[in-house]
Amino acid sequence: MNSSATPSFDDFGLNRWLKDALDELGFEKPTPIQVEAFPLVRSGKNVVGVSQTGTGKTIAFMLPLLQDFKYSKDPSPRILILVPTRELVVQIVEEVKKLIKYMNHRVVGLYGGVNINTQALELEEGASIVVATPGRLYDHALNGNLKLKSVQKLVIDEVDVMLDLGFRYQLTNLFDILPQKRQNLMFSATMTSEIEELITDFFIAPKHISIAVSGTPLDNIEQTSYSIPNYYTKVNLLRILLKDQERFEKCIVFVASKKIADRLYENLGPQFGSRMGIIHSNKSQNNRFDTVQSFEDGQFNLLIATDVIARGVDFTGVSHVISFDTPEFPENYMHRIGRTGRAEKMGHSILLFTEKEEEYKTAIEELMEFQIPELEAPEEMEYSAQKAPEERPAQGATKSHNRNSKLIVGGGAFHEKKEKNRKVNLGNSKKAKKADKFKKPKAKGDKIQNRRNKKK
Ligand code: AMP
Repeated sequence: MNSSATPSFDDFGLNRWLKDALDELGFEKPTPIQVEAFPLVRSGKNVVGVSQTGTGKTIAFMLPLLQDFKYSKDPSPRILILVPTRELVVQIVEEVKKLIKYMNHRVVGLYGGVNINTQALELEEGASIVVATPGRLYDHALNGNLKLKSVQKLVIDEVDVMLDLGFRYQLTNLFDILPQKRQNLMFSATMTSEIEELITDFFIAPKHISIAVSGTPLDNIEQTSYSIPNYYTKVNLLRILLKDQERFEKCIVFVASKKIADRLYENLGPQFGSRMGIIHSNKSQNNRFDTVQSFEDGQFNLLIATDVIARGVDFTGVSHVISFDTPEFPENYMHRIGRTGRAEKMGHSILLFTEKEEEYKTAIEELMEFQIPELEAPEEMEYSAQKAPEERPAQGATKSHNRNSKLIVGGGAFHEKKEKNRKVNLGNSKKAKKADKFKKPKAKGDKIQNRRNKKK
């Protein structure tokens, strides 16, 4: 690699087909993670990357993987990319398609919530690269639609979200059925003790890339905050701020739960309904895709979203991220603000906090080593005395379902399993046995119950 101050894609010595595809994408120069990752990933070593979203992570791992990726008659995937959400599958598939435009490869995306047989038909035509959510991938492997024996490169993206969503058990079980001899690449926006544990258990001598220290905000995001006493006063503030469409050109409002998302959507509906969308995991798959598309097209310029669903999705040109509540776990704040100021464009983050949420704000500031400037609420903002259901103590709080990955550390059963999994591929091929081990939750309730059991 050229050691000059401004690295260029030419330094990568890309093969002709990849270079042509990259030229069409029109990127001027590689981002820092792309520069760091290229030689390391190519060396074949295991790599752990801590990098915030919007830093060009996908291209960072795909370029070196594709550089040496030869055509093969083998219809089974040799590159497997695991991601936590369906939206991220679609996004990465699109990005990979652009990169392999002039290469003889096929990429297929697999995710739940849609017909499995349609995906099975797609797999029948062969796929050298598969991008998948862990649950659906396992279903396909179990049904025999997909053989994982050829996987040479495993990428696990957004590991922190993956663990947050309770996919740890699925991940460790997938490790069992993947070939032992493979290169592992793992990316996360934040590093937690649980991720470190996962790395120690399963990754042999990984090389670390850290583009920004865990928790460091991107420089091109202007952060501000407002101290607001309660939910309904926060709604009043939004009504005032969001009126200014010129300033709030494309805005995501993050909330802690689906319930709050629905209520806020209803509260803001009369004023902003025609240009406002809502996205959370109770919405159907098609509805979610449509909403993402409408927000991308500019049909909506306001999107109400829960943490889990909007994390990792790459919206272009988001001018503002508003944290309607203050996340209990600082990592979530980092993910939220990463939706704006992407690919070196200036973004804005506004955090609303109540007195009760002040301690969460302090935790965020400690993580970032940055104090978020506080703005005076506009004079015309009306203070409301009305309490939202979660603010009424008698009814019990509908607390945020943000989960601290550190709390999900497995109990006895997991550790027994972990011992077996530890850096060893057992190569177990018995379908029934696999299914039993995987213990895929049948319903969301089961998943939550599993997690609770683990916490006990
Ligand atoms: P990611 O971090 O992979 O989600 O990428 C964030 C955005 O940056 C995506 O829209 C990429 O297409 C874009 N991007 C990736 N690499 C570059 C680059 N070298 N220059 C400009 N934009 C890029």
